Amino acid sequence: MGGPACPVCSSDGAVAYAEARDEEYFTTPEAFDYYRCSACGVVFIHPMPTDRLAEIYPPNYYSFDASVIRSPTFRIKDRLDRRFFAKLLRSVPGTELAALDVGGGVGWMLDTVRRADARVTSTTVVDLDPDAGEEAEERGHEYRCTRFEDFHSHRRYDLVVLFNIVEHVADPRAVLEKVRELLAPGGVAVVKTPNTDSLDARIFRHRNWGGYHAPRHWVLFDADNFRALAAQCGLSVRSSRYTQGAPFWTTSIMYALRRRGWIDASANRPIPTHPLYQVLNAKFAAFDMARRPFARTSQMFFVLESAAGG
Ligand SMILES: [Zn+2]
Repeated sequence: MGGPACPVCSSDGAVAYAEARDEEYFTTPEAFDYYRCSACGVVFIHPMPTDRLAEIYPPNYYSFDASVIRSPTFRIKDRLDRRFFAKLLRSVPGTELAALDVGGGVGWMLDTVRRADARVTSTTVVDLDPDAGEEAEERGHEYRCTRFEDFHSHRRYDLVVLFNIVEHVADPRAVLEKVRELLAPGGVAVVKTPNTDSLDARIFRHRNWGGYHAPRHWVLFDADNFRALAAQCGLSVRSSRYTQGAPFWTTSIMYALRRRGWIDASANRPIPTHPLYQVLNAKFAAFDMARRPFARTSQMFFVLESAAGG
């Protein structure tokens, strides 16, 4: 067939899908190629810039989180998250629960999880950021600075959180197999990942869709091919829903405005720090929430459990 091999199903029938650039953090001016696998339908970057992590994740990529956490929007989100985790953990048996956040940074999501259910006594962050460990430990979390695929633990986890992780890794299958291995009996994993089968993904497909987050999103799913991969990894979907993908609308549109010279952005002033960003984000969050009951938005949310009573 000739196309590059699919990182999910290894089929070689991939076709060119789109070209995308880093117009968000401006880490490199080059264009990156995305392909769509003809067999399983995932969209993936090729070649994967696996040896360029320090370049494509600049220091200000991580520092952005801290300002978001102190914003009023975050406090609302935190309350919703706490309610969500409280409800989710009610189904999980045990008097003492262990929670793991993959890519959890300093552990703010685990703070929320701990407040959601008093049975959560053990919390672990697995993350690649060498600067997050100290604060995570101050917050009472175990911190393991490693790739999740290489993470080993004798512990089994009642809750595994993977929010916007599987699209960042070279081998999503290895990640989901690791989740299956680490889940305690009755445990659940929650996954959030972009959806290529969405209105904004179609509109901006050839105009640097924000969901490519180029060159940092390497493998992108839709609901069907994510569900299929989860099943192959011994995980079944207990529930799923679409959630608002405001940042993808916002970045897609801001890239276009910048290309026309209407707004300024650069490596020193990346798109997410621009004042217009929060304004547009709020508008598009409202837009997506309004159409969510009948439309597929560009973020998907899955609750996974071990298949067949594992
Ligand atoms: Zn494939």
